[in-house]
Order: sequence, then C-alpha cells, then structure tokens
Amino acid sequence: MSAPKVDQFIAGKRTATQSEAGASHSVINPATGETIARVDLNAKRSAEAAVQAAYEAFPAWSATPVGDRCQVMFKYKALLEKHFEELASLIVKEHGKTMAEAKGDVRRGIDCVEFACAAPTLMMGKTLPQIAVSSSFCRTEDKSGVGIDSFVDRVPLGVCVGITPFNFPVMVPLWMWPMAVACGNTFVLKPSEKVPLSAIREVELAHEAGLPAGVLNLVTGGPEVVDHLITHDDVKAVSFVGSTRVAQHIYKTATAAGKRAQCMGGAKNYMVIMPDANQDAAIEGIVGSAFGNSGQRCLAGSVCIAVGDAGEWLIPKLKAAAEKIKVAEGNTPGVGMGPVIDDASKQRILGFIASGETDGAKMILDGRKCEMPNKGCFVGPTIFDNVRPGMKIVDEEIFGPVLSIVREATLDAALATMNKSRYGNMGVIFTSSGYNARRFKTHAQVGMVGINVGVPAPMAVFPFAGWKQSFFGDLHANGEDAAKFWTESKVVVARWM
Ligand code: NAD
Repeated sequence: MSAPKVDQFIAGKRTATQSEAGASHSVINPATGETIARVDLNAKRSAEAAVQAAYEAFPAWSATPVGDRCQVMFKYKALLEKHFEELASLIVKEHGKTMAEAKGDVRRGIDCVEFACAAPTLMMGKTLPQIAVSSSFCRTEDKSGVGIDSFVDRVPLGVCVGITPFNFPVMVPLWMWPMAVACGNTFVLKPSEKVPLSAIREVELAHEAGLPAGVLNLVTGGPEVVDHLITHDDVKAVSFVGSTRVAQHIYKTATAAGKRAQCMGGAKNYMVIMPDANQDAAIEGIVGSAFGNSGQRCLAGSVCIAVGDAGEWLIPKLKAAAEKIKVAEGNTPGVGMGPVIDDASKQRILGFIASGETDGAKMILDGRKCEMPNKGCFVGPTIFDNVRPGMKIVDEEIFGPVLSIVREATLDAALATMNKSRYGNMGVIFTSSGYNARRFKTHAQVGMVGINVGVPAPMAVFPFAGWKQSFFGDLHANGEDAAKFWTESKVVVARWM
C-alpha cells in the first residue's frame, strides 16, 4: 500500500491537496528509512486557497478583542499539554530525534504559546497628551486653548506567512504563528516537507481550541509554493527559518515584493574552552551542544577552540564522553542520539568527514565506526583535532554530529578566529573567570552568547536570532521583537474642538 498523501489545512479543515502535476516528496522515518507519507511539492492551488481563506478571515479576527484572541491561546496551551506525548511521538517518527529531545521541542514550543498570551501587554501603544495647544476653535471660556494629544497604536498587518525548517518540527512553527495570530493577523504556515505531520497536528489542535476557520492555514510544498506565498499580493509579512542560502533568497524576494521579512539562516557555532574551565561542566555542555539532536540545531556548537593547554584535558575527556553516547532509534531506552534527517543528509555529513581526513585534521573519534543500527540514516559522534580555518569542516555548516577542535594560544586569538566566521548565530565560553567571560561576551560577534552553557537557547520572552549570515532582517523572532514584527504602528494626532 502506498504511503498516504499529507493533507493541507485550509479554512478550518483538513483538505486534500489541490495538486498540479509535479514532483512529490516522500516523508520518511529516518530511523528505518520507511516512507510514512507523501507531500505534493507543487501545491500552488492549495497555497492560493490558503491565502484566500486567511484574507477573508482577517477583518473579523483583527476586530476580535485581543483578550478574546488570547483566550484561544490559553485553551490551546492546555490542549498542547494534553497532547504532549502524542506530539512528541510524531516528532520521533518523522524527524528521528530522541523522545527526550522531542519532548524538549514541544515544551519550548509551548513556552511560545504562553508568551503569546501576553499579547494584550505587548501590543499596547503609547500616549503623549498635550503635545501642542491650538488657539483656534477654542471655546471662549477655555483660555488655555485646545489641547492636542498624540498616541501610537499597534495594529495587525493582515495575512502573514511562516516557512519552517525540519529540525524543530513543532517549536519553530510555534515561534511564529501564535504571536502573529494573538496580535490579530491571519496566517499561512508552510512547514518543511520533511516533517509535515506534527505541524498539521499542531494546527488541527489550534482549531480544537477554538481558533476560527481561516485564521491559521497550513499548506505543504517546496520552493514553488514558497515563492508563490512570499510574493503574493495579499501577503504582508514573511517569517522564515532555514539554511542561509534559502534565507537570503527569501529575504531578497519577499522584500523586493514589498513584504516585511525576518529570515533566520544557518550557523557555525564556536565554543571557546579556557584552561580554567570547570572540566566536568564543560564536557557535559560541549557534548550536549555538539551531538544533541544529532548536531542538527542552529545552536549546535560545532567548533571547539581549546585555549592554551585546555586541549590536554579536553580531548581525552570529550572522546570518553562521546563514546558513551548510545546511537539508536529515538524511543530506545538509554538512547543519546537518533539518526540524521535523511540519507541525503547522511551522505553530505560523510562527505564532510572524508574531507576532514583529506585536509589533514586528526581523527579523534570516527562516527562511521560506532555501534549503531545498520538501517536508517545514522552517523555516530565524530571528533577532529588540529583543525585549521580554511578546512571545509570548520568553514561550512555541517548540520550533523561532527565536532572540530581548533587550538589557539589566547582568548583574544580564539575570539579573532571565531569572529572571522561568516555566520554569527551563537558563541559559547567555558571558563571560571568573570574577566574572560565578560571579555568574550563583549567581543563575540554573535546574536546569542553562552557563558558555561552549551546551548544558550533564549526563552520565548527574549529575542532569538543571530548576526551576519545567520540572520537577514531587523526584528528577531520571539520576545518583544515578535510583537513588533507582527504589528504596524499607527500614530494619531488628535484635537477635539
Ligand atoms: P532549508 O533551508 O533547506 O529549508 C527550510 C524551508 O525552506 C523548508 O520549508 C523548505 O521547503 C523551504 N525551501 C527549501 N529550498 C527552498 C528554495 N529554494 N526556495 C524556497 N523555499 C525553499 O533548511 P532545512 O534543511 O529544513 O533546515 C536546516 C537549516 O535551518 C540549517 O541551516 C539550520 O542552521 C537552519 N536553522 C536556523 C535556525 C535559526 O534560528 N537561525 C533555526 C533552525 C534551523
């Protein structure tokens, strides 16, 4: 029996794809390689229907009091808690991450829904009474003239679009649409074609929570659907998360079409290890950062800079800790690392490992040789030492469980090496010196800094995004930036005769 085709979710219900002739994508379980669903890549007619539904829903939804809109979010948060295990299981199935990581994915997504419940406060405008006085038209008894007041409202934009990557199937969509919708916008979500099943369930649950039809729609598809959405006349804003190549394309195309855009791109994250670091905390933090989610995080630390003689303890301890990671299917007891997303990704990662050897890096731990299932898309934890800038493994995003170790004599040399990267998502230091930590935080050219924390993922109340080629735009995801991104300001100057 062939795998079922993934539905769209348009105007409040699941609907079959209105497909044109074109390619389709097989959604696989990366732990087994088995095809579990199919996605039409060229569902432009469905995309059109989704924008239309969002456009028609906008007047009523934007006029609904923000407190009432948030009541839906409160109910949605409760439903997500109720369906927590179900959503996490879907993530394990279509993405491959471990059950613990999948639960983290859902939990961090719920944080965003909770934050969206603060929309009444976040959308508040400002007022400045008596900015001027007008003497004309004033009543004769009013000797002081007529006061003029000014205020700024924050109002929703209209139809907004979100395009998401494969690596956090539930959380990244929740970075976008709950705040957009709580602010009064309507939304079309285009999830990664690799992980559409948990996203459609997430959208379905929002309707069970009481979201009116058309406020949130989901279309599946590939680049043609994306390009259709981001240039559509009725779309006002685009939020994107994915690789730098696509982020750049989307930012240029959407802004050229007059849309507001924020595009979070790829990363190559450095972790600087000082000789004075707490060794156990550093090892735990580095291993979690480099190999958690099989290295498929935009906050994955993929380069360690061992400063001074830190390498002497770092390398043997790191190797011992990484060797202990159990590589297996995500529900296996004791599992530490699941597969990577698909075979193409596995082959790309194996290509990077081969290039590390060819370029002369020293293999410390070979992830091709670790104990792991013999089917599915598995690559074990891999560590290279003596890596130098200019090698492919340190210059490019691998998005897999490969950690490169670079040696530098001083913190300043480490900062200089790190800051040469074209990416600037996050940087981490492990040290027991406040002076070193402060120096690192001050000079690191990145959007997110970790001090003795391997994955400095900001809570939803803080903005999330990098610098340089890790981000294209102005306002970041989450935090107060999100409420600003999803609203427009309107200034009023008022005089009452
Ligand atoms: P990707 O760029 O391949 O795909 C992301 C989305 O863009 C998907 O929905 C996909 O269908 C669409 N897409 C792909 N090619 C396109 C094209 N040519 N035109 C228009 N749309 C296109 O990314 P991915 O492989 O799904 O995710 C991994 C990447 O995402 C990594 O680079 C990772 O660093 C990045 N990421 C960044 C952040 C961040 O906050 N900076 C967070 C998570 C992931």
